Amino acid sequence: MNYLDLTTEERTAALLKLGEKPFREKQISRWILSGAESFAEMTDLSAQLRSTLSEHFSFERARVELCQTSSDGTKKYLLAFPDGQKAEAVFMKYSYGNSLCISTQVGCNMGCAFCASGIGGKIRDLKAWEMLDEFIVCRKASGEDINHIVLMGMGEPFDNYSQVSAFLRQIHDPKGISLSFRNITLSTCGLVSYIGRFAEDFPQVNLAVSLHAATQEEREKIMPVAKGYPLSELIPACRRHAEATGRRITFEYALIQGKNDSQQNCSELAALLRGINCHVNLIPLNPVSESGFSTVGREAAHRFAQSLENMGIPCTVRRQLGADIDAACGQLRKKHTCPKAEENV
Ligand code: SAH
Repeated sequence: MNYLDLTTEERTAALLKLGEKPFREKQISRWILSGAESFAEMTDLSAQLRSTLSEHFSFERARVELCQTSSDGTKKYLLAFPDGQKAEAVFMKYSYGNSLCISTQVGCNMGCAFCASGIGGKIRDLKAWEMLDEFIVCRKASGEDINHIVLMGMGEPFDNYSQVSAFLRQIHDPKGISLSFRNITLSTCGLVSYIGRFAEDFPQVNLAVSLHAATQEEREKIMPVAKGYPLSELIPACRRHAEATGRRITFEYALIQGKNDSQQNCSELAALLRGINCHVNLIPLNPVSESGFSTVGREAAHRFAQSLENMGIPCTVRRQLGADIDAACGQLRKKHTCPKAEENV
């Protein structure tokens, strides 16, 4: 039995059974938070207890298998979990602090046409403690503080709602990492049925919605999820989210040459979002060789942004971090995490 796989209650119960006091659980938790890799490292436990623990439990956590550093300082960590499955987390530096982009699943079932993460389908959900471990292990490996997280790595967070919400509570826990909910952003491709629940459960966590097209017809062509959750349901749900939480919602819009980057697309987008407390994040598409889609230049992206602003919709063009190490949005995948994807290249 892997100690990391146990809940707090199960850990406490197991320690009591070994004749230990309940506070031992907190002591061990502190070691886990600091990134300890074995019971042997936990030097404020007696040698006897450390050896008893090793006899009863394994201590297996996420390991950094590879770290690539981009010329802009972005670091992509390939993490291996105890069962050998792998996912990536990306460390980024911004003027407001350091941010970690976290994966919520190994692979993804959403099948967006422009994204590399979904090419091999979903392999499995990540557990809450594994997502927390992405944070702890990358913080330790980077040697830097991390004060923001975005759930924008591999996977669809709402397709793994129970583990993702357990993870959010754990990373927010004042006795642990104590990350402010306001410094967390969850990004969804638009699983409408979870948006209302998320507003109730986590009103302070920022919501980002991957839109990428302003009409139902165009959106369906690039995002299969749009067939089950049409724009006619998604947009009202987003409006309700912004109203219920009082927070500004972000819409992500990857600019794809000849698909969604025209002046007409821009006007349709403005009309769709008018009156919603929102902000549009324009992303010049990051090239994914399999998709056959081309990106637009940064200049064209800025022209689109100007035009959208002129129509009253606040927006920014996202900085492109880590493109030289395939760490940019939609490029987390293949070689290591998804061998099937590599076959398709
Ligand atoms: N499943 C969630 C979160 C992961 S994707 C979601 O869909 O929001 C994180 C963001 O990267 C999403 O906005 C996604 O649409 C975007 N993305 C995916 N592939 C991309 C690409 N090739 N170029 C730019 N953005 C991309």
